[in-house]
Amino acid sequence: MNWTKDEERLLEVNRQVAEVAASVAADCEANRRPPREVWQAYADAGLKGMLVPKAKGGHALRASVMAAMSEELGRADPVAALTFVPQEYCMSAIATYGAHDWHDEILASLMAAEITTGFLLTEPGAGSDATAMATLATEMPFGWRLNGTKAWVTNAPYIDEYFVFAQTEPGAGAKGIAGFLVPRERDGVIVGEPYEMLGGYVASIADVTFADVILEPERMVVPPGEGLRAALSAIDMARINVGAECCGALSVGLETALDYTTQRNAFGQKLANFQGLQWQLAEVATDLYAARLMVYDAAAKLEAQGKASVEAAHAKKFATRAAMDGLDICMGQMGSNGLKHDTPLPRLFAAAKIAKTLDGATEIQNLVISRGLLAPYRDRL
Ligand SMILES: Cc1cc2nc3c(=O)[nH]c(=O)nc-3n(C[C@H](O)[C@H](O)[C@H](O)COP(=O)(O)OP(=O)(O)OC[C@H]3O[C@@H](n4cnc5c(N)ncnc54)[C@H](O)[C@@H]3O)c2cc1C
Repeated sequence: MNWTKDEERLLEVNRQVAEVAASVAADCEANRRPPREVWQAYADAGLKGMLVPKAKGGHALRASVMAAMSEELGRADPVAALTFVPQEYCMSAIATYGAHDWHDEILASLMAAEITTGFLLTEPGAGSDATAMATLATEMPFGWRLNGTKAWVTNAPYIDEYFVFAQTEPGAGAKGIAGFLVPRERDGVIVGEPYEMLGGYVASIADVTFADVILEPERMVVPPGEGLRAALSAIDMARINVGAECCGALSVGLETALDYTTQRNAFGQKLANFQGLQWQLAEVATDLYAARLMVYDAAAKLEAQGKASVEAAHAKKFATRAAMDGLDICMGQMGSNGLKHDTPLPRLFAAAKIAKTLDGATEIQNLVISRGLLAPYRDRL
């Protein structure tokens, strides 16, 4: 990759953030705590505002630079990356849609790491189909009244300003969805208990309920009809980043398996001498190579054309699958020891499974890819 001097500097500070993430990952997961040290390192490194235009104080990073950063973070802890990278998409949406002076102020506070945010789109009854959301924002003479429950909220107990997507006109679907900033400390905001899950406890995931929460008019950042577009405005970048994180995780799997099998003996020789095991790792290496090519190709297209939906869908689908299948093989090469938390592999395996669901599960990527395939044949359907 050809990086500018400034990009190289940002990649280097991001590497230092990733080192912090790697050093606390096991402890965060075991103790089900947020990666505060990583958030601090990220803020201190001045990395916030990655996708925000320079005119608004951001870095306006190229997609390939952000993907490279995500790959590095994925080597350390892909789920910890989930606790701060998606905030960049929120900041980008506030920069694009915010039309009030107060929106600029809150964006500045987010970039200075004085406060945190996160998207609240998913609901107990609406995931892939966000247009079915039931959370309702009712216009009042003094602003808005918010009612509903959001599900799968990353960092639920730690977000200062929830970026909540809500329906303003029941039955209107996407045409009625708007976006609001809702302070956690407001009356009527109830944070649920953290979920019991496969793993990924570093993300502190829980429901958040809004019971007659009153909001001032300027707390509507995205007007009705624009909400879904705003929520998905950085979706290509998000999918590329998840793919890149999976490449990072899989490269750790490969290195760990190689390290183990070149030291461990069975039947009088090193495990790595058995061709059966060599070929398994050769398959993993091919998938990793292909996943990386897809991720950086999608990033290059996004940079060049501002949109890369099909390429990002291919990359996300392939890289998450390669990581899950590949980490399974790498863990298998270590026998029972592959299951122990002595190495990061079980944690990374859970992260790869999680990554398959995020930002559109594999079936949703297939919808995007199929739409692209069928586009030239639309008049026949
Ligand atoms: C670790 C983690 C963190 C998350 N953080 C957040 C967050 O901070 N904010 C937030 O808003 N959400 C968050 N999510 C939620 C995530 O975005 C949703 O889980 C995701 O959108 C899928 O929705 P769902 O789980 O309701 O699945 P559903 O929509 O119920 O889908 C179930 C299955 O059916 C498939 N499916 C759905 N529609 C179709 C179709 N048309 N054709 C074929 N197959 C289909 C899906 O691919 C999936 O496999 C998080 C999830 C995880 C795991």
